[in-house]
Amino acid sequence: MKNSTPVLLSFLIFTCFSCAQEKDIRSFEAMNTFMVLKSYGRKSVRSNILAQARIFELEDCISVTKKESDIFKVNNANGAEIVLQEDAFCPLQFALNMAGESEGLFNPLLYPVIREWGFTTGVYKVPESSVISALMQNTDYTTVVLDKKKKSVKIRPDMMIDLGAVGKGYAGDCAIQLLRANGIKSAILDLGGNVQTIGKKPDGSLWSVGIKNPWGEGSVAGLKISDKAVITSGGYERFFEQDGKRYIHIFDGKTGYPVENEISSVTIVCKSGLLGDSLSTTLFVMGVEKAIDFWQNRRDFDMLILTNDQTLFYTKTLETSLSILYQFNDIHVVE
Ligand code: ADP
Ligand code: MG
Repeated sequence: MKNSTPVLLSFLIFTCFSCAQEKDIRSFEAMNTFMVLKSYGRKSVRSNILAQARIFELEDCISVTKKESDIFKVNNANGAEIVLQEDAFCPLQFALNMAGESEGLFNPLLYPVIREWGFTTGVYKVPESSVISALMQNTDYTTVVLDKKKKSVKIRPDMMIDLGAVGKGYAGDCAIQLLRANGIKSAILDLGGNVQTIGKKPDGSLWSVGIKNPWGEGSVAGLKISDKAVITSGGYERFFEQDGKRYIHIFDGKTGYPVENEISSVTIVCKSGLLGDSLSTTLFVMGVEKAIDFWQNRRDFDMLILTNDQTLFYTKTLETSLSILYQFNDIHVVE
């Protein structure tokens, strides 16, 4: 009898090896940013194509500028009630909850103010304070009427919804969900600096994610993660300077002015992209002290804050996954 063991063995080795090596990398522009999907496994090509299509579909639904989007319809409904697709209702409801939790420091209705400063066009200016206070009258998130049964929303005619601070995180969650449903067990997505992952690397090791240096090149820290999102809001991402002063793209929802505090960047580590994205913006606006209080009352996420004086704050549970790559002036462990 012929011994088939060596043939079988080499077949198994070959299939396992090729499984582990099969991967697909897709990059494209969506939501005004550059995105890279890296998926592993036999179905990676098809799954990545579907995930990209899903992100485009989502963008078409929640974009504030695309005329066919649900959000555009709400913003131009002249006060009428609009029924939303789940893709718009879910992040909107989440963003309004975050507005409530942060007492308006996070506010998805700031668009008219942010537009006045030129952040939507790149033609920047510092508006008159009277103009800002007048526009702030149209940003009261408590007046938004959400109907959870009908999945509808109604805003006053002079108001506008903008899901810019949560859109990429929600897109990450949707893409991850789709990839998982297609059998992907290992993937890392970079959606304009928001990193979201499925499982571990194909070799079983953890994913490495760098925390960008706000004061220079490279990374100031590295995080080893699996099945998590690492989402950063940085003052260095988008800003303009006038008369020696820097105005960043993250706004204080209470004043209508760009945030001016001690924070350089806030990174959130958690399961959900939507949560991470909304929290990175919210905690940035809060400042260090309030952000720590907020974390101590919730503890359902991890955070890493870099301040302008080059101090690092991080929550204790990150200790085992964190490597520090920078000579900080000071380091505080939050617990
Ligand atoms: P990025 O999108 O650059 O990664 P963020 O997630 O922090 O950064 O989102 C910033 C965007 O959110 C801004 O460009 C603006 O459209 C919007 N935004 C700014 N400040 C606030 C705020 N206080 N509440 C809600 N949205 C905000
Ligand atoms: Mg955000």
